[in-house]
Amino acid sequence: MTINKHLSTHERLLETLRTLSAELDYQTVLQSIISVASELTHSEIASILKYDDADEHLHFIAAPFFHREPIQTLRVPLEKSIAGWVFQHASPLVIQDVKGDQRFYSEVDQKVKFQTDSIVAVPLLIKGQPVGVLEAINKTSPAHYNGEDVLILETLATQAALIIENMNLEQRAVQMQAAADRLEQMKKDFIAIASHELRTPLGLILGHATFLREIADEAHYEQLDTIIRSGGKLKEIIESLSNVENFQSGAARIRMMKFSLPNLIQQTADSFQNMAKEKNIGLHMDIKDPNLLIEGDAEKIGIASDNLLKNAITFTPENGHVFIVVEQIPGYAKVSIIDDGIGIQNNDLTRIFERFYQVESHLTRQHGGMGLGLSVAKVMVELHGGKIWAESIPDKGSLFTLLLPLDRDQINAAERVFQA
Ligand code: ADP
Repeated sequence: MTINKHLSTHERLLETLRTLSAELDYQTVLQSIISVASELTHSEIASILKYDDADEHLHFIAAPFFHREPIQTLRVPLEKSIAGWVFQHASPLVIQDVKGDQRFYSEVDQKVKFQTDSIVAVPLLIKGQPVGVLEAINKTSPAHYNGEDVLILETLATQAALIIENMNLEQRAVQMQAAADRLEQMKKDFIAIASHELRTPLGLILGHATFLREIADEAHYEQLDTIIRSGGKLKEIIESLSNVENFQSGAARIRMMKFSLPNLIQQTADSFQNMAKEKNIGLHMDIKDPNLLIEGDAEKIGIASDNLLKNAITFTPENGHVFIVVEQIPGYAKVSIIDDGIGIQNNDLTRIFERFYQVESHLTRQHGGMGLGLSVAKVMVELHGGKIWAESIPDKGSLFTLLLPLDRDQINAAERVFQA
């Protein structure tokens, strides 16, 4: 090859690589690579094969347009094929006359009605590992493939290998997303089925136990009370599960009514007095706006504040304190629940509102619960167009804030979003 010719080949190669690296569409780049490969190596055609882990064969991902149709379903084995040899040895191969070579895989020629005489093939490598093969076929001039042709293909192969790596990464990302979606669906189905199937027998157990409690003599009160109390706990868990499920399936509805938020929070606090007393925790209310009326679903707001207060007492050691502040701020009713308990690490703060998220491992945790309380509270508040968040200092305590909009339009808009 003359110096001038040599230079123009390299210029062409560089120019190709430069334009290719700016191109985003994989097929366009791969097709350009094979057309430049056949042009610069003076070959009749060129093609690119990609290794597929799933069937352990090489597949054509770029071929001249007249071969594309028949070649699409072709799989080239790693054994007894030239491309397979190049792939397995991660090394280039030049064969001037394929007829005499045992490795030649003739099925491709038969399928595309083509005759291969000579071939040069190089592996596509990513960090030294083969991911495919680039080959050029039938040298037109001069008569034989040489080291220069191998170099040209190897240069183009670097670009093709990057594309294959991107394709593999994208494929893996799609597969992982699909697996995550499947898991999410299974979780939803499980929640829907479990909460539905558990509710009926539990209702019967509680109904009959309550009836027996009424007619039983005092000697059996303790056992029956335990059954009723434990059944009640189970019922709460099932309600939490179906609350989240209803919300996610869009079945959640809010029943609007005007009610006194301070009264509702006071009732919630009263229902936790015993639990607080058992741990000698002081439960303090500070109602700054006693006449604060809001529009919303009192039952759902009740569930949210219930869960927050239960957590505040649960995660505060004996002799601690819990404060509840109810006030009006511009546009919102605000409830703050403050405790001087164990607190929450920064990296857990955003995650505690996720379904089933618990800070302690469920194997070692000392507290009951399923990691649903806060996700349910969040659902309830967001259904009203409100906001909920947590702030905390580990070992010092936590502050949970709940904002509920005073404006009915805001609540209606939130409901429309959730039902969309
Ligand atoms: P669970 O019903 O299992 O307690 P939640 O969704 O209510 O689940 O809470 C999730 C986790 O957040 C809890 O397991 C707990 O680790 C942490 N957490 C919630 N509230 C508090 C709090 N007031 N103080 C410290 N940790 C809290």
